[in-house]
Amino acid sequence: MESTSLRVHQFLGLRPGPRLLVTAAVHGNETCGSVAIPRVVDALDQNMLRLVRGTVTFVPVANPKAYARRTREGDRNLNRDLRPTVVVTEFEDRVANQLCPLLAAHDVLLDLHSFNNPGQAFVMVGPRDNDGDVEPFAHEQAESRLALSLGVSRIVEGWLGTYVAGARRRQTGGRSDLRSVTQYGVGTTEFMRSQGGYGVTLECGQHDDPLAVEVATTAILNALAQLGMIDKPAPRPDPSRVEVLRMYDVVDRDDANDAFMRPWASFDPIGQDTLIARRKDGTPLRAPHDGRIIFPNDAARPGEEWFYLTRYSDRQLPT
Ligand SMILES: [Zn+2]
Repeated sequence: MESTSLRVHQFLGLRPGPRLLVTAAVHGNETCGSVAIPRVVDALDQNMLRLVRGTVTFVPVANPKAYARRTREGDRNLNRDLRPTVVVTEFEDRVANQLCPLLAAHDVLLDLHSFNNPGQAFVMVGPRDNDGDVEPFAHEQAESRLALSLGVSRIVEGWLGTYVAGARRRQTGGRSDLRSVTQYGVGTTEFMRSQGGYGVTLECGQHDDPLAVEVATTAILNALAQLGMIDKPAPRPDPSRVEVLRMYDVVDRDDANDAFMRPWASFDPIGQDTLIARRKDGTPLRAPHDGRIIFPNDAARPGEEWFYLTRYSDRQLPT
């Protein structure tokens, strides 16, 4: 039976402070956060953990339709084109109409995800501070501090700008409306930033790896401590042990016979001029910079994103 409600747990601190929202299972088969959240809720219920200021709200299953099916999406990807709508056509539209006001009512978002293949956890952050058109932002430092506190050693920045540039190229003749292309790229964290807040997407590990649950649990506790919301000292991560990657390009597959030179995995290092792939006509695709390949998708169809390129970032992390 299709879900008709969202479950929300909320703790209101008796002293004012940040309003943190923690979401999980925005993609229905990414359930580490859905296991981690009840642990933290229990700890708060039993006073093993004390909320001393601010508000923390948990949504353990943001997409109940996809979660019930154990699939990424219900009717569509909840983490794209996320906005309230008047004309509801898909299940995710109904979720968005509840989730968006909830996001807007908070200052900080921790969105817990997982991924398909083995690999280490990483966190996706938003843009640098800027007043441009795609994603204006003023909380770069606070967002970096949050990302750094979570306990993972890899940070990726620059998603929306790279995605929008790729999507605009993908449109015939390079003509496309910036607003609709950018809107499609808006997920939970982008919506949060559009409302004046900030937030990160934490990719905790492989979907069914029990370690991903530990990563998610630690991240929630670290976020609460870093924001001064629980009576535990803020984590003191060492920025020199964290690698920051800047996404700078997405390459589409043009033809089914475009081929990778080897089976790439996300975060495989690629030196400048490394031969990554060849087009059907033999044209080589080389890495313009030292960095890492991410999200290589050998199942991509012509016209779809094939792989993303990152380079080592010069982003300054707070110490
Ligand atoms: Zn996800």
